[in-house]
Amino acid sequence: MRIVDIREVTIDLNGAISNAIINFNKHTVSLVALISDQFSEGKPIVGFGFNSIGRFAQGGILRERMLPRLAKVTPEHLLSSDGCGFDAGVLAQIAMKDEKPGGHGDRAGALAALELAAWDLNAKLLGEPAYKTLRRYFGVVESVESIPVYAAGGYYYPKDSLKRLSDELLNYQDIGYRSFKIKIGAGEITEDISRIETAITIAGCGSKIAVDANGCFDQQQALDMAAAIEPFKLRWFEEPGDPLDFDLNRNLIESYSGSVATGENLFSSMDARNLMRFGGMRLGKDIFQMDPGLAYGITEYHSILETLEEFGHQRKQCHPHGGHLINLHVALGLGLGGCEAYPGVFQPIGGYSSQCSLENGRIAPSDAPGFGLEQKQDLYPLLCELVN
Ligand code: MG
Repeated sequence: MRIVDIREVTIDLNGAISNAIINFNKHTVSLVALISDQFSEGKPIVGFGFNSIGRFAQGGILRERMLPRLAKVTPEHLLSSDGCGFDAGVLAQIAMKDEKPGGHGDRAGALAALELAAWDLNAKLLGEPAYKTLRRYFGVVESVESIPVYAAGGYYYPKDSLKRLSDELLNYQDIGYRSFKIKIGAGEITEDISRIETAITIAGCGSKIAVDANGCFDQQQALDMAAAIEPFKLRWFEEPGDPLDFDLNRNLIESYSGSVATGENLFSSMDARNLMRFGGMRLGKDIFQMDPGLAYGITEYHSILETLEEFGHQRKQCHPHGGHLINLHVALGLGLGGCEAYPGVFQPIGGYSSQCSLENGRIAPSDAPGFGLEQKQDLYPLLCELVN
């Protein structure tokens, strides 16, 4: 058994929307295909992956550095020890040959797209959904078939209003979501308070609303916002300051009784370790959002989970950034606290397929093999184009 070809294509995301600091209009994603020499129903079995959402495609790093390294090894080298699949960890090691530690940046996303495709391929070779493959491989004892999910939206639109926000969240509620996340930080605090009150009116209580500042605040602004939102008893306050400013994070946590969430822009277990050491994250309370699709894939992500547990945190505190099918399988397979969804944004990658079942704020994947990306209607033609 061998991988006969690896292909990458840059795809555009639909999203003329903004958070407090960036516009997503020009964002792209690397879609990767690992084509095996195995066949099912007359077609090659192919693993697909992509580097999550919120950054850019990484075709240059893949083509100039990582794929040539993989092309040099003998095919057997990439096989798992039982010979029934491919070793995603070994694939990652080879792709990273001669790369210095630290300074993770865009290569963490490039490798992630490759590494995630290996997990999709392995699950398809076994003919099962990826979350089952992950449970078996990592020895996760879980029997649940669904997981809590919240709808991440409430971005800033060119033509925005509280009515638009309200309509958006009502739409999410109609299709089965019970908890929501909205953006804050682009305007005055009073505007954000109005947005939060609008969201709470729909959700019924603050504990079903999270707010995300996307790292826009300095220390004083973060403290001012924390004081303003404290009475609402929100689900969490996400990325108040720069994701690498652990001092700010710790100071905020010391003066804010609600949960703080961060981590989507930390790409390695050492980054996570430093957050544990210096960021003040509270056991059983604060939320970790590292995203395998931005952080070298599932092998590194699992190492991040081990680091959190070493510090006494629980993996139920983890809600990975990235509301798409891959992270649904990761969250369910690795026994995390829940997952995010982008039901209305970032197509064709964001959100779930219609075959997933969403009921009362919990989501279950379909029984499609792998991550089930082929069941995403808008994504399927792009997958076909990449392999044909
Ligand atoms: Mg965020």
